[in-house]
Amino acid sequence: MKSQDEVVIIGGGIGGLTLALALHRDGVPFRVYEAVPEIKPLGVGLNLLPHAMRELAGLGLEPVLRRKGIATQEYRFYTRHGQLVLREPRGQYAGYEWPQIAIHRGDLQFTLLEALIERAGPDVVVQGHRCVKVEQDEDGATVHFIDPKGQPLPPVRGPVAVACDGVNSVVRVQMHPKEAVPRYEGTLQYRGTTRWKPYLTGATHVYLGANETGKLVMYPIRDNIDGEGTQLINWVIEVKRPTEDLKRDWNRRAEISDFIHHFEHAKFDWMDIPAMMRAAEAVYEYPMIDQDPLPFWTEGRVTLLGDAAHPMMPRGSNGAAQAIIDATTLSRLLVQHEDPRAALKEYEQLRLKATSDVVLANRKISPDGLLEVVNERTGGKPFERLEDVITEQEIIEWQARYKKIAGFSLDDLRRPVTA
Ligand SMILES: Cc1cc2nc3c(=O)[nH]c(=O)nc-3n(C[C@H](O)[C@H](O)[C@H](O)COP(=O)(O)OP(=O)(O)OC[C@H]3O[C@@H](n4cnc5c(N)ncnc54)[C@H](O)[C@@H]3O)c2cc1C
Repeated sequence: MKSQDEVVIIGGGIGGLTLALALHRDGVPFRVYEAVPEIKPLGVGLNLLPHAMRELAGLGLEPVLRRKGIATQEYRFYTRHGQLVLREPRGQYAGYEWPQIAIHRGDLQFTLLEALIERAGPDVVVQGHRCVKVEQDEDGATVHFIDPKGQPLPPVRGPVAVACDGVNSVVRVQMHPKEAVPRYEGTLQYRGTTRWKPYLTGATHVYLGANETGKLVMYPIRDNIDGEGTQLINWVIEVKRPTEDLKRDWNRRAEISDFIHHFEHAKFDWMDIPAMMRAAEAVYEYPMIDQDPLPFWTEGRVTLLGDAAHPMMPRGSNGAAQAIIDATTLSRLLVQHEDPRAALKEYEQLRLKATSDVVLANRKISPDGLLEVVNERTGGKPFERLEDVITEQEIIEWQARYKKIAGFSLDDLRRPVTA
């Protein structure tokens, strides 16, 4: 990019901060404008799949992320009766060059924030700036902000503006005012974290059950939090349930009694699951919502990134991963092109189709979809022999398909990054 003016990054979440770190590495000036007056370590757990870890390793963050999170060793898929369907190694345990790391979202956000401030200084992140509108002309983009009290702040101008403002993006609404309302799948998610002793390998990601009767996803995200080996376990429940409240609010509280009855039976020799859930510090509710892929993300000097561009159902561990890959791709392109508008256009060409495929795959063929198939074929009853229900080949193909679509098959990650 020719201009020495600062790229305006709207939103200091996972995508915005990764973009800032990548631009800093690549020598492009920038500043991040975040709505909240003080960034707090909110959320529960998420997964950094190997394709996202490749990008974060390129930013020098692999050692710190390994320390703060847990390198997942394996996935195990169980029916609701606790029958094992699949045990699958993950990350470096599956031959990847990079680990798969399970981590608290707040730990990830603060790792990015601290690295950025250490490398580029504290002034590059401006908090208390909520974007309300973006305008552009031949020479630049102008971003309008309000403060936490709703008062207008002086507008900011840059060669481009990148909207990393999350699932409720105002820039997306401005760009696509007639977009259809978000699509609710009919499934509510409940999320919590519990301090608990390590189970199975101490780094096992468990899927258990099926949507119809309640599904559990569970993995440790912090190790040895008390010096006595206790871990912080992240767990997510999915149950079919109608809801009127389709607001995408990551901080909406819920009660254990809303869903625990689906799991009272789930007491296994490796974990008493209802006891673990009852010991949670707090439980949150989130509707499984996504939006149909957009026809475009870039208009001249303005583009969308991360959840603002491709809100997907939080399933398959790709929300953060795709935002991270968007960010590093865009940074590389801004360096390659003299005209930043060309960079934004090529970014859209490279990333729109790729992420649209993930949005659609998360509806039907995410990894846990395997358990839906088994549940359907057994009518939810225990099986005698797994091979009578599903063949090994079918299982292999199911798992390979999602990795391929989401861009983290072993073959894909052996190829060098080109853009
Ligand atoms: C509070 C919170 C908790 C979350 N918890 C989880 C979780 O537990 N598990 C999980 O898988 N995902 C969670 N997510 C979503 C997850 O971070 C994203 O799906 C993913 O990492 C993609 O990142 P992103 O940067 O696109 O969006 P986000 O990480 O959501 O970041 C968006 C950022 O933009 C800021 N912002 C919003 N509107 C404006 C505006 N108008 N002007 C300026 N800034 C704005 C937000 O405050 C936020 O910092 C959470 C998101 C948030 C905001």
